[in-house]
Parts: sequence; C-alpha cells; structure tokens
Amino acid sequence: MSCRSCVSGNQAEFPAEMMLHFRGLKNVNKPPIWIFPTVLVCLACGFSEFVAPKSELALLSDPTPTLESFAQSNCG
Ligand SMILES: [Zn+2]
Repeated sequence: MSCRSCVSGNQAEFPAEMMLHFRGLKNVNKPPIWIFPTVLVCLACGFSEFVAPKSELALLSDPTPTLESFAQSNCG
C-alpha cells in the first residue's frame, strides 16, 4: 500500500494514544475522548491516517456524551 498523499511506499505503523476534543464553546464542558488507534505514518511526507475504534465512534457521534458513557469507554 502506498501513501495516499505522495504515493511513497515508505510507511510504518505505530501504536498511538489520542485525546479527541469536541470543538466549539457549546462543547466546552464535554469530556474529551481517548482512543488508542494504530497510526500509519508516511515516512516521506508525514501524511498519517488511522481508523477510530468502533467502541469510541458512538461517543464521538453522541451529541451529549455523559460522564458515565465516558467512564465506560475509557475504563471498561
Ligand atoms: Zn507520503
């Protein structure tokens, strides 16, 4: 598989941890969402991509995640 940006084949996968924040003032009180994807990094141009885990997709699409759903996702 080659890089979708520069077509280089010089890519490597890295385990990662990311904290995703909801944008905007109306979301300032929403807790951030931790995800632990494998990131594919192009070592030629830096273009990187990953797939968010399915269990976190519900939290990311939930307009009003609660502290309980946050705890279940991050602690369960
Ligand atoms: Zn590239």
